[in-house]
Amino acid sequence: MKKQFAVIGLGRFGGSICKSLVEEGMEVLAIDENEEKVNEFASLATQAVIADTTDEKALRGLGIRNFDHVIVAIGDNIQASILTTLMLVEMNVKHITVKAQNDYHEKVLNRLGADEIVHPERDIGIRIAHSVVSKNVLDYLELSDEYSIVELGAGTTLHGETIVGLDLRAKYGCNILAVKRGDNIHVSPRPEEKIANGDILIVIGADDDINRLENQWI
Ligand code: ADP
Repeated sequence: MKKQFAVIGLGRFGGSICKSLVEEGMEVLAIDENEEKVNEFASLATQAVIADTTDEKALRGLGIRNFDHVIVAIGDNIQASILTTLMLVEMNVKHITVKAQNDYHEKVLNRLGADEIVHPERDIGIRIAHSVVSKNVLDYLELSDEYSIVELGAGTTLHGETIVGLDLRAKYGCNILAVKRGDNIHVSPRPEEKIANGDILIVIGADDDINRLENQWI
């Protein structure tokens, strides 16, 4: 059976999650207190309903307990986000993801027992900062406090070098996960693979090591 999702709050964040889930073929109940928003998603989502999710009766009436995963994407109204999350936890919803507006909000959501808390504005800010600080960093994904995956542009300097020749593992403790060339992606490239102009290397490693690599290498 298909996994059933409910998305509460159809702003930019919730709306884009809703669209992507539908594109992935999931069943999605789209919920917002704003009628215009609900109308916008009526033909896209499996079902779209107007409801104020801080109203326990309304929330229960949606049968929200039976969904596999509920995403709370209420934006600025932190109070509504907290109340909604609290009720979802009390109803024993299987998996709850909540968008946090700031660190205090995140703390409260953690205490309430949300399964996953996301901080899209902060996270995208970190990614953009990394890519503007170093011209070679094209994208950045934080795996933990210590480890990340980065996309590094090979530029012209590395043209013709082999992966084994670069020896990133010994020199920087980093590993090349994949090489992007145009529309193709070579996962687990062979050691003798040659790097070409314009290739993008996807590298995993400790942040300190990646920083050393960015500063000294390309
Ligand atoms: P974003 O930053 O993702 O665009 P917004 O603040 O614009 O976030 O959107 C949040 C959405 O959540 C709005 O469409 C708003 O109507 C909806 N929303 C806010 N409070 C509630 C609530 N109590 N119940 C249902 N939907 C809500």
